[in-house]
Amino acid sequence: MSDLPQPHAFFIDQSWSNEGAEDFFILHNPATGGAIARIAVAGDAVVDRAVRAARNAFPAWRDTSPFRRAELLRALAREVDARRDEIARAVTREQGKPLDEARGEVSKVARTFEFYAAEAVRILGQTIPNEEPGFLSLVEKEALGVAAAIAPWNYPVELIGWKLGAALAAGCTLVIKPSEYTPLSAVRLIECVEAAGFPPGVVGLVQGAGATGAALVSHPDIDKIAFTGSASVGEGIFRTMGGIKSVSLELGGNCPMVVAASADLDAAVRGALRRGFRNMGQICIAVNRIYVHASLHAQFVDRLVQGAGRLTIADGLEQPAADLGPMTNAQGVAKVEAHVADARAQGARILCGGGRPDGLASGGHFFAPTVIDGCTPQMKVMSEETFGPVLGVSAFSDLDEAIRLANDGPYGLAAYVFARDVGEIFRLSKSLCFGSVAVNNVDAGIMNAPYGGRKRSGLGYEHGREGMEGYLAIKHVRIKHGA
Ligand code: NAD
Repeated sequence: MSDLPQPHAFFIDQSWSNEGAEDFFILHNPATGGAIARIAVAGDAVVDRAVRAARNAFPAWRDTSPFRRAELLRALAREVDARRDEIARAVTREQGKPLDEARGEVSKVARTFEFYAAEAVRILGQTIPNEEPGFLSLVEKEALGVAAAIAPWNYPVELIGWKLGAALAAGCTLVIKPSEYTPLSAVRLIECVEAAGFPPGVVGLVQGAGATGAALVSHPDIDKIAFTGSASVGEGIFRTMGGIKSVSLELGGNCPMVVAASADLDAAVRGALRRGFRNMGQICIAVNRIYVHASLHAQFVDRLVQGAGRLTIADGLEQPAADLGPMTNAQGVAKVEAHVADARAQGARILCGGGRPDGLASGGHFFAPTVIDGCTPQMKVMSEETFGPVLGVSAFSDLDEAIRLANDGPYGLAAYVFARDVGEIFRLSKSLCFGSVAVNNVDAGIMNAPYGGRKRSGLGYEHGREGMEGYLAIKHVRIKHGA
């Protein structure tokens, strides 16, 4: 293992190094199990160095004209576009999604930077009437300070990009800690930051697992925590972050799809296949559980199983256009196996998948797309986040029952509805208690609309203007001018 590449993994004050690393971990390719590189781990001292660099850079960056910040964000978008393939290859090699899909993710990050470049020059305040004459109240918005950005591995560049774009547009500096499963795609992305010409210290990168993340979020000089990851880690951060800090938590889900009696069956099947299995179901807003009207149930599961059987699954570097690659890690596969076993033990029917597909590298984390029918609310697949290529299906006969089942449970990230009857559409979209409800489509997150969870799915928003507002503080300036 000592002959593995040991790339520079920390970016602090505009320089790359592994200086001060307290350890190294081995990064693996999820399609083959092969070792890729040794990655340096940042301990408290390195995290402190990165936060201090971001703190020192903050006043000048805050006071940089928003037009200049926008220019740099557009330069960043151009760098990302120019290096799309290189970044995408890094994503596929460490995360597993097929190369074409990874290219799509990288392009979306470039569009994110363009979006926030436009928002940077629209940070607007208000004037407020005063009861007494001769006074004027101004409400201004100012950059919050230094942000800690913690990201998961399932969309390793996009989920950094949303934070990076919004924070830089707002005038915040930030220190990023990517997931320990996807460190090198983050390195490629931050190389674009360097090439775009941002001032030293404005963006920092440290690497490591939970301990590094904990050191970063609890650092006393952090003003804002932007965390995306599991509900359990998010709750832990909320309890232990140390001090009063602004915080956004984008956490897990267990997202329902309701297929009403009036649904377009083919559209619902296509939607379930896409949002259930894409990225091997490792999407916070993946469809996890489906409630389908009894009149459509038999046809729906039949077509769903046929569709699942047509999906191609491969090493996504070798077959860039494959529908699915491996899952990202062994823990993910183990969780999927546990959810399938639990459903089977409670009497559900595994209609397809349920285990490893044939003919793929034995060291890879592959799992066949799985459809489970006859599910009950007690089963894990219907009540917990599976985060894998598994769809649990249950039939309903009364829409109120479907609404109750869909709203049941601790999560509130996204819900999906397929219906053509306008009454059913409005009843469902009003009654579902989720941050996003997608009707007759499964793309619940778009760049210029806010995206966030309710209940155990989190706090705050990313995407859209609201994503940037999370990096701004309000100041009321009350002026006595006497005129
Ligand atoms: P995770 O919670 O295990 O890790 C997320 C990040 O937090 C990683 O960088 C990890 O190193 C870091 N971390 C771990 N312990 C920490 C601690 N104590 N303090 C600070 N940082 C710590 O999640 P994961 O397995 O990487 O990602 C999958 C989860 O992310 C799923 O639950 C998924 O639903 C969720 N997710 C949510 C969204 C959303 O927008 N709501 C988007 C993508 C993923």
